Amino acid sequence: MYDVWQNVLAEIEQQISAANFSTWFQNTNLLSTEDGHIRIGVKNSFYVKQLRARYINIISTALKNNNVDVVDIDFEVQSNSKTKPRSREITNDDNSIKNRIRNIKIAPKPTTEAHNNGLNSKYTLENFVIGSNNELAVAAAKSIIDAPGTRYNPFFLYGGPGLGKTHLVQAIGNELLKNNPNLKIFYTPISHFYSDFIDAIQNGKGKEFNRKFQKLDCLIIDDFQFIVNKEKSQEEFFNIFNDLYQLNKQIIVTSDRLPSQIKTVDERLASRLTWAGAFDLQLPKFEDKCAILRAKAELMGAEIEPEAIEYIAENINTNIRDLEGEFSTILLMSEVRGLTPLELIESGSVSVNKNSKLRPVSSKQVVDKVAKYYQLSVKDLQSKSRVSNIKTARQVAMYILSKELSLSTNKIAAEVGVKDHTTVMHGIKKIEKDLKLNFILRDQIEEIKEKIYGQ
Ligand code: ADP
Ligand code: MG
Repeated sequence: MYDVWQNVLAEIEQQISAANFSTWFQNTNLLSTEDGHIRIGVKNSFYVKQLRARYINIISTALKNNNVDVVDIDFEVQSNSKTKPRSREITNDDNSIKNRIRNIKIAPKPTTEAHNNGLNSKYTLENFVIGSNNELAVAAAKSIIDAPGTRYNPFFLYGGPGLGKTHLVQAIGNELLKNNPNLKIFYTPISHFYSDFIDAIQNGKGKEFNRKFQKLDCLIIDDFQFIVNKEKSQEEFFNIFNDLYQLNKQIIVTSDRLPSQIKTVDERLASRLTWAGAFDLQLPKFEDKCAILRAKAELMGAEIEPEAIEYIAENINTNIRDLEGEFSTILLMSEVRGLTPLELIESGSVSVNKNSKLRPVSSKQVVDKVAKYYQLSVKDLQSKSRVSNIKTARQVAMYILSKELSLSTNKIAAEVGVKDHTTVMHGIKKIEKDLKLNFILRDQIEEIKEKIYGQ
């Protein structure tokens, strides 16, 4: 148990900032995993809330990547004198709601395991909403479905967590199979690839392992970024890749970043992976988020007012997984409370994650906290200095002032000490662009926001 948890933690550590990792995961341990009911021990009830709100999906994925079945995840406070939850936090009523929410937030286990191809039939192209954030990737996906192994081979898809990578590549696999049930398709997260590979080697079945892959018509590898430090597996993958490629078999790879940004990836492999281009999934814009929520509502046969959809879309700025999570929570709570989703929101009994509007902060506080975070004085931040650290701090302040306080670019210019608003526009764009791939920056901005809102 201990070993598994260490592996899970190692995987999580790769994905979040060092500060977040030590804050939230240092004192956790795995209590049991019986029948997929995962129990994780934590320090106090505050951690339960935060881990559930922010990291449940990362934990779930990391557990699954380490071959632990996950049906649901529960956090338990581990202390001798059990700290009582603050009364405002949990009522009996809320508790049962939370339990039910817990159960629906986690994706069900693949239903098609009988085929042993790793595909989960719930991921279809039909229920993948096309928007400005993913239209190029979807166009390429469609072209692959029409003619696998031709134009977009390999198909390299990248983007931050929760943006639809797994969904889209699984959908390609499912559609290919629909068109031709005889195709041999195999989907695997890279972490399973390497654990299966190590098993095979240890059992003297390395050749068989290789042969199994050579027979495929389409190989889908998910979360390739976890190949880090797995030289032997990487080599094996490279061989399989070359063989399949030469036979014009379709190869599909997802990752949270470009191959060149993954440490310890062989340069030749990195360049081959993007031979046919690299497609990214971006953060959805407001309209995209509304479209996704409308589609989900329709799929679930749920009634939800357009204003409620807009409210959720406006307030969830992280990713589609969180968007879905909040949506399910609101639907479930509205059902339990006997209110419509909009009535529920208006009653103030749900506070959407990352909803800054509920807690007003001043622009001075923002500038002050950003400066402090970068260990600068406010004067430094507002200076004309172009030293990289100071410039970044200034641009992050511009970004937060714009996104969180919705200030005009002119007002932002005055707050951060720049002359004109085009510099502000440029600064905000720069951060937006960097955020797509720079995970450290993403975490830093989250941390700064936590400081600003005082948690
Ligand atoms: P990733 O693999 O990039 O971390 P997932 O594919 O697991 O993300 O997507 C997270 C959740 O969001 C899934 O439940 C998925 O079905 C949903 N999702 C992502 N993109 C879309 C989309 N364009 N339309 C509908 N649902 C989406
Ligand atoms: Mg995924």
